[in-house]
Amino acid sequence: MSLQNLSDERLIEDTKMWNEKEEHCTRQFLRHINEVNRRRLFCDDKTGSLFKYIRKNFNKSDSEISRRVLAAKTLRHVPYADKALANKQVTLTNLAEVSNLVENIKSKKKKNEILDSIKGKTQTQTRELVDELTGKKRATRSKTHSHSDGSLRIHLTLVGQTAKDYDFLKEQLSNNGIYKPEEVIGHAINSTAESMRKKIIGMGSRKSKVITNTRAISAAIKKAVMTRSGNKCENCASKYNLHFDHIIPYSLGGVSTIGNVRQLCSNCNTRAAIVALSQQKMDLYINQS
Ligand SMILES: [Zn+2]
Repeated sequence: MSLQNLSDERLIEDTKMWNEKEEHCTRQFLRHINEVNRRRLFCDDKTGSLFKYIRKNFNKSDSEISRRVLAAKTLRHVPYADKALANKQVTLTNLAEVSNLVENIKSKKKKNEILDSIKGKTQTQTRELVDELTGKKRATRSKTHSHSDGSLRIHLTLVGQTAKDYDFLKEQLSNNGIYKPEEVIGHAINSTAESMRKKIIGMGSRKSKVITNTRAISAAIKKAVMTRSGNKCENCASKYNLHFDHIIPYSLGGVSTIGNVRQLCSNCNTRAAIVALSQQKMDLYINQS
């Protein structure tokens, strides 16, 4: 039936009905992506994160995905948020804004209080509340432009402790003739990256600690695995939060050889453990709210 033939009353009624259905579907979608996340099922799709999984499989913009993934995270930490969403007391955007805050708070009571405090609030009001509670002054958004010569142009604003640390570093480095902002920041980036690289390879200078874990993967094995993987997750190619993983788990007698060690991102590592050791067992270590 063409909508053009509907009466005014019916058109308004139906619009309302479809909106209700859409909101219901959104809540169901959030519940489902949370379960996909609990099982880390997106790793089977080699997408490495819930965000990338949704981007690959569903027709949604990045901002729509981001809002849903963050709102779903709030639902994991504050189950009662689902009811508040159903009762139209909070919006998806509100829930997304507080997701990192509720994730980092242990007390269930406090989590619920935060949810209560954002009821009926706009996005800006919710943001202000989050800033107030975290004591953070929000930095203006930084912009990055890559140039064809490999250089990077970054506009950034440093606030709070970071601004103080910058001043301190600048003062210290001025003795070495380093004054320009790009030199000061370059120095900070280089030395942080250097120490991270050493940690990853597990070969520090004499001063720094050699990282070994109880599962004892030697520096040589780690280096060989990193060469093979190109320092990427060997399942989804992510470059972030990389871990060395025993293909046959250490707890099941797996050994630390090149053939049994691989580099996985944190999510793919968790998924592998779920498959090898069971969801029930891994729920004791992960997915805790
Ligand atoms: Zn991965």
